[in-house]
Amino acid sequence: MRIAPSLHRLGSGMVNSYLIEDAGEVTIVDAGVPGYWSDLTAELGAMGRTVEDVRGVLLTHGHSDHIGFAERFRRELGRDVWVHELDAALARGEVKNPSPGLGPTRLRPLLEFLLYSARRGALRITSIAEVVTFGDGATLDLPGSPRVIHVPGHTPGSAALHVSQLDALFVGDALATLAVTTGDVGPRIAPFTADVPAALASLDRLAGVDARWVLPGHGQPWTGGVPSAVERVRASVGG
Ligand SMILES: [Zn+2]
Ligand SMILES: [Zn+2]
Repeated sequence: MRIAPSLHRLGSGMVNSYLIEDAGEVTIVDAGVPGYWSDLTAELGAMGRTVEDVRGVLLTHGHSDHIGFAERFRRELGRDVWVHELDAALARGEVKNPSPGLGPTRLRPLLEFLLYSARRGALRITSIAEVVTFGDGATLDLPGSPRVIHVPGHTPGSAALHVSQLDALFVGDALATLAVTTGDVGPRIAPFTADVPAALASLDRLAGVDARWVLPGHGQPWTGGVPSAVERVRASVGG
């Protein structure tokens, strides 16, 4: 799906993987679920690109529903998968998910999420054998020159990625516009957040970013500006 010129998305909005293009080359931000691999060629085609043009997969964090096809990409194309240094062990499958559990749920939306993911291979996700790591404040040598803003809380190594040339801020699960466990929409703390107070504190690090597109790991793009997204997340937890 095309969001804007040079900015596309795989999936329906339930689990997001984004493709960004810069001077004929592509960065994939989050690798969703494994089944998206079969959608990748067509989406790249719609951008006038092929899988050969993809320079790297950049992960907002190490959760399994963001790793998706990343290991397959790395193995088949011999190109790098990037993640914040504090989520590297999680992405490699060396440590357990730090999330305490599901939190509040509603049966039907939760089942829809689980079915959507399972049909797309979420029960056979392969950890990433080898990752390239980055730290806070880095500007990455990838198409789009993403700038890293460390936003710990959802996971210790959660990172937002600002691509100023596309006026886009990829927030991963630092906030969500869809809670997959309840079906609630609008900016909110994402389910499976390990440390909610830390996640709320991290939102301060995003508040100064000017971006037309706020692009979460789950849910539709937010175009109301970063400050209003942050405000709504805070309101959703009553704080
Ligand atoms: Zn997550
Ligand atoms: Zn997620």
